[in-house]
Amino acid sequence: MASFRSHVAPLHVLPLVAAFFVSAVPQNGAGTAAPAAPLPTLTAEVTRTELEHHVRYLASDELRGRFTGTPEAVRAAQYLAAVLQASGVQPAGDDGTFLQRVPFERTRAKAVPELRVTTKSGAPLPAVFGADFDLPLGLDLTTTALRVVHVKRPADLPAEPDPKAALFVEGSVSERRRLLTRKNEPGANGWGLRVGEGRAKRGTPKPAGGDWSPPMAPRGPGDVWLTLNGELLEAMKAGEVVALELVTHVEREALPAYNVVGVLPGAGDGALGKETVVLSAHYDHLHARDEAGDADAGEPGAEGGPKDVVFNGADDDASGCAAVLELAGRLGASKRPQRTVVFLLATGEEIGLVGTWYYLDHPARPLETTVANLNFEMIGRPDEKVGGPGKLWLTGFELSNLGAAFAEAKLDIAIDPRPEQHFFERSDNIAFVRRGIVGQTFSTYNLHEDYHRVSDEADTLDYAHLEACTRSAVAAVELVVDGKVKPAWLPGKDPNAPRGERKPSAPK
Ligand SMILES: [Zn+2]
Repeated sequence: MASFRSHVAPLHVLPLVAAFFVSAVPQNGAGTAAPAAPLPTLTAEVTRTELEHHVRYLASDELRGRFTGTPEAVRAAQYLAAVLQASGVQPAGDDGTFLQRVPFERTRAKAVPELRVTTKSGAPLPAVFGADFDLPLGLDLTTTALRVVHVKRPADLPAEPDPKAALFVEGSVSERRRLLTRKNEPGANGWGLRVGEGRAKRGTPKPAGGDWSPPMAPRGPGDVWLTLNGELLEAMKAGEVVALELVTHVEREALPAYNVVGVLPGAGDGALGKETVVLSAHYDHLHARDEAGDADAGEPGAEGGPKDVVFNGADDDASGCAAVLELAGRLGASKRPQRTVVFLLATGEEIGLVGTWYYLDHPARPLETTVANLNFEMIGRPDEKVGGPGKLWLTGFELSNLGAAFAEAKLDIAIDPRPEQHFFERSDNIAFVRRGIVGQTFSTYNLHEDYHRVSDEADTLDYAHLEACTRSAVAAVELVVDGKVKPAWLPGKDPNAPRGERKPSAPK
């Protein structure tokens, strides 16, 4: 595992060459060069050949599901970057490259976590990890002895958090969430430790030097809870515990994770040219199963062959990436769009929109002038609910003025036919929405049974459908990037407005 860190770390500073082969870096652990991934012959048109080539490479077993933090995901990123470059898009990642490094790591317990308890009487009170207390995987925290602040009802919650104190909230998980995770609740964050009631799930303490956790975004004390159980919990409730000191004994390993970001500057005059539309899709998918530690869990291969353990993610979301790449080819070759266009192939979507949240904190163009995010998610298979092959639907169709603009332009783009699935909130667009930007997702996901399974393979996609959808998307995107419509939520439909305020108001 160490070699994996050493050979991938410098990648974000390597300039990508304008070649038609992806760089053969990184090398695999055996020291042999990874096979280069040839790009297709790229044209300014949307073609089935190009789309299929993109999907088949990204969803190949060789890329092992493109899980965030893996060398295969880095290779996928290099491919995407090479296509953007060949399409005439300018790099907008770190240090003049298309790659934007996203902080990402995994953790390992070097020893069993320790909780030192100070009681009022001075009598010792044992605290055994996995029996008396538990904490979230991946928490890396060493505290001093923190005095306990005991909250039994909302009125007990101090207005200001104290980083030198451990906040103990009595009650169920939902009660403490209600108390503390409401936005802008005073005193919700900033404590040295947050402590609640909870079953110890692990049963037995983990041995020292446990395995690496699955990679995850860093966790701090502000977003986790230490949970107590049994005698220790009773002592806390009775006010017997006056201080807690936690040492998690965790080590961290940084993993390579990148967004791929490119830009086409807008040709429009003044403000219009600075207004930015972000076209996005996520290129990460899920672990290959043996990496997740359950090699036997793969699905049986054909005729007794080896089990399929790779989550290929052909529809989810190699299909969306292919569409964004073809949009780059089309927009890059045409006269400059009036608005600036950012192409964002994001990592970390499957583990909590990690890449997109990072982009929003480090955008290629200011968020103040970012007027829309159009996201592509699972467009490789026709959805009969909206008319089958070639028909796209758009999440949040009825919330913004874009749905109506597309309808007026006679584009074949339908209302999301399954609002009960909450697709509007289930992809990268929602992160843009939460930052006040109109964000919507094009999809044709038909609830097929290969979703998040090893059977989401390139062979199962309908490439004529993907081509037709991408052509529709070109027309929709051109309408927006050429400034013919200014994206906005419809009056009273802003998804960020508190419920009571979502009512009709005068149009702006
Ligand atoms: Zn997805």
